[in-house]
Amino acid sequence: MPVPPFSLEEQLRQLGDSLDQAVLQVLRSGQYIGGGVVTAFEASFAEACAVPHAIGCNSGTDALILALRALDIGPGDEVITASFSFFATAEAISAVGTTPVFVDVDPASYLIDLDRIEAALTPATRALLPVHLFGRPVDMERINAIAQRHGLRVIEDCAQATGASWAGRPVGSWGDAGCFSFFPTKNLGAAGDGGAVVCRDSTLAQRIRELAVHGMPRRYLHTDLGYNSRLDALQAAVLNVKLPHLPLWVERRRRIAQRYREALGDLTAIQLAEAGPEGHSWNQFVVRVPGCPANQASCAGRCTPSSDSATFGLPEACCRDWLKQRLQDEGVITIIYYPIPIHRQPAYAELGYGPGSLPGTERLCAEVLSLPIFPELGDEQQERVITALRQLVAAGSPVLAA
Ligand SMILES: *Cc1c(COP(=O)(O)O)cnc(C)c1O
Repeated sequence: MPVPPFSLEEQLRQLGDSLDQAVLQVLRSGQYIGGGVVTAFEASFAEACAVPHAIGCNSGTDALILALRALDIGPGDEVITASFSFFATAEAISAVGTTPVFVDVDPASYLIDLDRIEAALTPATRALLPVHLFGRPVDMERINAIAQRHGLRVIEDCAQATGASWAGRPVGSWGDAGCFSFFPTKNLGAAGDGGAVVCRDSTLAQRIRELAVHGMPRRYLHTDLGYNSRLDALQAAVLNVKLPHLPLWVERRRRIAQRYREALGDLTAIQLAEAGPEGHSWNQFVVRVPGCPANQASCAGRCTPSSDSATFGLPEACCRDWLKQRLQDEGVITIIYYPIPIHRQPAYAELGYGPGSLPGTERLCAEVLSLPIFPELGDEQQERVITALRQLVAAGSPVLAA
């Protein structure tokens, strides 16, 4: 049995009965939209995020769209974010008619480079949209300071960071709004799509709530062109069962990350994810495998140039791709988050970010590899990952060994 990058098998073994009961109860209640189960989840999730309001919706993508719309960000506006993220971050900005402006990442934290934000501001900038990527919290005190200096809104993309905190306060509670995803592989996953927006301001919360239901403050009165984006009662029931386990799951993720760092810290050919701040919630553990130098010959034919590099004008990813393949041969499945940066995606060709426009982001896309991490990953499974990686790096391509 290979070590999977993510698995629900053990969690379902542990929670299966409670989940069955919760889902059956909703199924048999006949109340599928809204109702007490959804309200109860919203209340507990708001509490977990240390904010007064949480509004369930259809997905993390919708959460971002709802937050942007509710803050009156729209056509003609610009929102600053990172290109090193899941596509939905930028897609949501574009969905409200706004232009995403991409700022390069800090190569050590993989997060938006705070020192570059102010250079990207224009008179059209309305908001900062930091992404707590891989569960690592962005420095929200600095983000808020920049926002305050320039009169900007702050929307946190917390999709990968449920259970994370900055300076002891949960992510999502720092900005004007925090947007969460309950996609099954996130730290708190539903049995399908789901999301939530959290916020402190009650007027904003009301606006988000209305937008999520056809811009309808009361039945059949429509004051806005909104959306049909609700958290299903069935999904809320699943989340109600899972939410109490979140702190323990995050703790397990932290322990797994720490074990990787201890067991692999001496390898110089790859770069491990930094320990990061205390509130890191480790949705992913991402290592960097430096690409080949310009001289392809140094690979001695072991690595083959990857087609994505050529197609999207990215640095050569051959050593990373080689390691991924060899790990797979050894029964360790890894994932690349993300092979192509958002600013180089065909869908964003019109924004005109050419090759080399965000060099840090482009290099990361060629070098990153996510090792298996999920709360139920067993010690023995993790040791297999560690052993395989150590052996491959020691015996690896000339570049890796260098
Ligand atoms: C998953 C994710 C989203 C979108 O969430 P969905 O629930 O899949 O719509 C947005 N941003 C980031 C960073 C994500 O990882």
